[in-house]
Amino acid sequence: MTIGSMIGDIVESLFKKPVTQQYPFERKEAPERFRGRVHYEPGGCTGCQLCVKDCPAYALELITIDKAAKRFVMRYHMDRCVYCGQCVISCRFSSLRMAHDEWELAATSRSPFVIDYGLPEDLATLHGTEAEPEPDACRNV
Ligand code: SF4
Ligand code: SF4
Repeated sequence: MTIGSMIGDIVESLFKKPVTQQYPFERKEAPERFRGRVHYEPGGCTGCQLCVKDCPAYALELITIDKAAKRFVMRYHMDRCVYCGQCVISCRFSSLRMAHDEWELAATSRSPFVIDYGLPEDLATLHGTEAEPEPDACRNV
């Protein structure tokens, strides 16, 4: 590279808009297929445990509340998850999905990284509390 062409690049870059994004003040929409936080819908879950067995990071635990009634709580260790999407592929009952718009997951303590998903009454049974409806049927433990 000659000095002349370098000077050309320097002058050009002085008048170019920076390509860097001013995060967190500017946010781009994540792509539709971006693999963010895992969610669990208890409705169709059969308790087959395939997702738990196939997770390479040991990030999922299925807690049985009542096997006959197919009532389960899924404990998701978000801090272990490597966002590979294998659990979603393994589940044949569409009980798991990854939220493309939930990717800003940093926290200053560990507690938000362990999430229990389930019906409010099953979460209450597990935690020994009164059943109360919670947003997204989940609770951090
Ligand atoms: S996305 Fe991958 S690492 Fe995360 S819970 Fe699913 S299988 Fe495990
Ligand atoms: S693979 Fe699907 S149906 Fe089987 S335990 Fe996991 S979430 Fe439930």
